[in-house]
Amino acid sequence: MLYNLAKRGVKCVLFEKGELTCGATWHAAGLVTRFHGGNNFRLWHDEGVNLFSQWQAEGTPLSFHTPGSIRLIPNQRDYIDEAKYQVSKAKIFSGLFECEQHHMISVDEIKEKHPLVNLEDTGIYGGIFTEGDGHIDPSSVTNAFADRAKGLGGTIEQKTEVVGKLQSFQVSQALQSDRNASWGCALRS
Ligand SMILES: Cc1cc2nc3c(=O)[nH]c(=O)nc-3n(C[C@H](O)[C@H](O)[C@H](O)COP(=O)(O)OP(=O)(O)OC[C@H]3O[C@@H](n4cnc5c(N)ncnc54)[C@H](O)[C@@H]3O)c2cc1C
Repeated sequence: MLYNLAKRGVKCVLFEKGELTCGATWHAAGLVTRFHGGNNFRLWHDEGVNLFSQWQAEGTPLSFHTPGSIRLIPNQRDYIDEAKYQVSKAKIFSGLFECEQHHMISVDEIKEKHPLVNLEDTGIYGGIFTEGDGHIDPSSVTNAFADRAKGLGGTIEQKTEVVGKLQSFQVSQALQSDRNASWGCALRS
């Protein structure tokens, strides 16, 4: 958020009670995907993956690997219908927004792409393959966002806990104040 706000010229501060990445990000496996069932999130996911690819190509070390991903489809009517719906929708999105497509693949194609997977007696119908999906180092990508946000004028205050907020404070003021002005929130360092 700090990066995207700073990019739009909004002067803002990120308060972190510990250190960057010490929350859920610390535990994340780092899987990233273009796939999402919802329309807006689908575009958002695509934007993220494209950004990671671009930054890595520009030389930012992100440990971003993109072998693609396979979503397994159980051999049940509802799951198969949903999978076909998502693949068709991805095709439309590809035409409209140049998003990466998803592809239905058979059990044999899954085995070909991932020889270690054992689908014997699993009742798997097939899979949805998404090119460009992969995994990234969550810590590296967080720091890449932080560095860029700071470069754009954003501020990061670590070891600073927000412990309350002022009732009458306006959000616009909070975003426009500087460090010495009232932030509209109570802090504990
Ligand atoms: C085991 C596990 C595996 C995961 N695997 C994946 C994955 O493969 N792919 C994926 O996309 N997502 C995955 N996730 C989800 C992903 O980790 C989170 O969606 C993401 O890290 C959330 O980032 P965040 O910055 O919103 O939250 P966080 O990383 O939790 O950051 C919130 C920060 O706020 C700080 N904070 C809290 N309260 C205050 C306060 N009062 N004042 C100041 N600072 C405060 C915390 O210290 C923390 O650092 C996984 C999550 C877990 C737990």
